[in-house]
Amino acid sequence: MKTSNNMSNNVWVREVGTRDGLQSIDTIFATDSKVEWIKQEAAAGIPEIEVGSFVPAKLLPQLADTTDVISETCKISGLRVSALVPNFRGAIDGMVSGVHQLNYVLSVSEAHSQANTRKTVEEAVADFSRIVSYRKDNPEYHHVLLGAGLATAFGCTIAGQIDEKDVLNTLEALLEFSPDEVVIADTVGFANPTQCRRIFKQVLAMTGDIPVSAHFHDTRGLGLANVAAALDVGVRRFDASLGGLGGCPYAPGASGNVVTEDLVFMLDAMGMDTGISLDKLLLARTFMESNLNGEVTKGAFVHAGFPKGFKPESAF
Ligand code: ZN
Repeated sequence: MKTSNNMSNNVWVREVGTRDGLQSIDTIFATDSKVEWIKQEAAAGIPEIEVGSFVPAKLLPQLADTTDVISETCKISGLRVSALVPNFRGAIDGMVSGVHQLNYVLSVSEAHSQANTRKTVEEAVADFSRIVSYRKDNPEYHHVLLGAGLATAFGCTIAGQIDEKDVLNTLEALLEFSPDEVVIADTVGFANPTQCRRIFKQVLAMTGDIPVSAHFHDTRGLGLANVAAALDVGVRRFDASLGGLGGCPYAPGASGNVVTEDLVFMLDAMGMDTGISLDKLLLARTFMESNLNGEVTKGAFVHAGFPKGFKPESAF
């Protein structure tokens, strides 16, 4: 599947519920259950799953087994296994783990960056350059893909509005180190479709052949509208969370990501090709829900199913 941003019909959906979702709920999944969840989504055709993150277990006990999850899930044929890293230390642990891709995330908002990592944005960019250099200096890690994510790119619960120039300048600084992917994230659900169109147009003009992903939270109900807007201008990779599980422990009021099943249904209906089976995705959802202890999941397709006589559009 072609994965770069373009006007093709192929869309890459990355499941992040196993990271973004789990880190925001109290239930701690057993490693076996996590692996089974991931297996079921892979069987449904999800091409990439962010299975955890390399942060101290004290901070996120829900993700303390990330290394074990990676070694099990890297055995799944055809699945790209990725993990989030917030700093250089985490990236080293990530490379050692055998993971296929590390998604380094920094915050465009100075206030959010300081609150989360006690680093300025400039220092966080420097961390990414150290990670890229480390990979370069260690041939055994040359195969590890390194994504660069810009969190709070559409707004921040601490700073409020974020200047678009700050987003583009931070992106420009990161592009110097040739990331394998760029992720633009609406970490706290502030984005609207007009803003998405404007920002992603500028981002795509800067990134050339580097794949660009959009990471939306549905905090104010605009998640899928934002996806549609980003699709319009050429974004072809989206993060989503099964059952909408998600949030951010450091961002009060944040809610889950775009619901994976609803996203896939919308893309199907629009005539896009995800390679994902919705029926199998719903089975994975049922399994995931059976492991929760009262946490609420979201989603519309799970309740309504396909419309009678459903026929996808011809794509763009
Ligand atoms: Zn998120």
